[in-house]
Amino acid sequence: MSRLTGDHRSTTIESEGKPVVAVVDAPGGGYVDDPDIEQRILGHAAEVRLHIVPEGEHHLAGGIDADYLILWHRVRLARGFFETAKRCRAVVCASVGYDHVDRVAAAAGGVPVFHVPHYGSEEVADHALALALSLARRLPELDRHVRSGGWDWQAIGDARRLREMTCGLIGFGRIGMAVAQRMKALGMRVVFHDPYTHPGIEKPLTVERVHRLDDLLGQADIVSVHVPLDTATRHLLGARELGLLKPGAILVNTARGAVVDAAALRTALEDRRPAYVGLDVVEDEPGIPQWLREHPRALVTPHAAFYSVQSLTELRTRAAEAVLQMLDGTQVTSAFAVP
Ligand code: NAD
Repeated sequence: MSRLTGDHRSTTIESEGKPVVAVVDAPGGGYVDDPDIEQRILGHAAEVRLHIVPEGEHHLAGGIDADYLILWHRVRLARGFFETAKRCRAVVCASVGYDHVDRVAAAAGGVPVFHVPHYGSEEVADHALALALSLARRLPELDRHVRSGGWDWQAIGDARRLREMTCGLIGFGRIGMAVAQRMKALGMRVVFHDPYTHPGIEKPLTVERVHRLDDLLGQADIVSVHVPLDTATRHLLGARELGLLKPGAILVNTARGAVVDAAALRTALEDRRPAYVGLDVVEDEPGIPQWLREHPRALVTPHAAFYSVQSLTELRTRAAEAVLQMLDGTQVTSAFAVP
């Protein structure tokens, strides 16, 4: 059965007394147009509904009558949702980050929250590498030069040899480590700052640990950000920190926009610390400031780093399998409880 009412789109594929699993996406999110994967995995045990929240209601405070939610990241679950959604037994975030869910309210409401942190680490690492390499080799400038009728190799400007660069990684989890492997393959020295990762992890991975963020910022030619967004990492890179970068440095952020203070970044770019910025994420997505759209030394992609045909399929499969494991009462191994 399929129902379309106003801005609400609700596609019901099974019914009659089964638990309800709502796949919740934002308009234009486009992650799930057809819940066919979820239906294939869950259809025998649950009623699967696709719920597209109305435009302008990304902070969801209620209105979904379901036992389980598979939640896509452009929809925010606010406190009010957990106060009113008495039927909700669990939320599975179809994402690595879970900063879009009020976890305190979820815990107070007794609703466990899961996420799927391991579906697309390679894609994000590849994307961070692509942004860094494109900027290091000045591809946006060269492309603009050729498109405007030029053919002068000197348009490459002051590009430097990669093998003599240092790459500094802020956050050394799944994605940070995958980026380290890629940068090392290019011959770069790799340093990282992560106060919480395993002591000694630098040894087997033959990278260097930097205990103070300030020291990383002062020595890296390419800085790539791979921390989760939380209260401690919001604006982790503000005016002071950006001022510590090497002149000419490249900054890449594929983590979350708010880790970098956008207003401070605008000023810092004028000072060429960083000289170039590659962003897959911005503060207040999907809004993007006009100055950033127009900046000649910014390379910006629309939060696409996670994506490949395979990673999206893996993500949807893992999220649905996690709900099935909950329904079966077996150990949940396809997703992980958020801390
Ligand atoms: P992860 O949990 O494996 O690694 C994050 C690391 O950051 C951890 O090792 C943690 O110790 C470290 N960390 C936390 N606070 C820190 C701080 N203040 N300073 C330094 N290090 C700190 O996560 P991951 O899988 O590597 O993903 C990283 C982030 O990437 C996610 O949280 C998510 O927001 C983002 N992400 C973006 C996309 C995209 O499409 N752009 C896709 C997936 C993930």
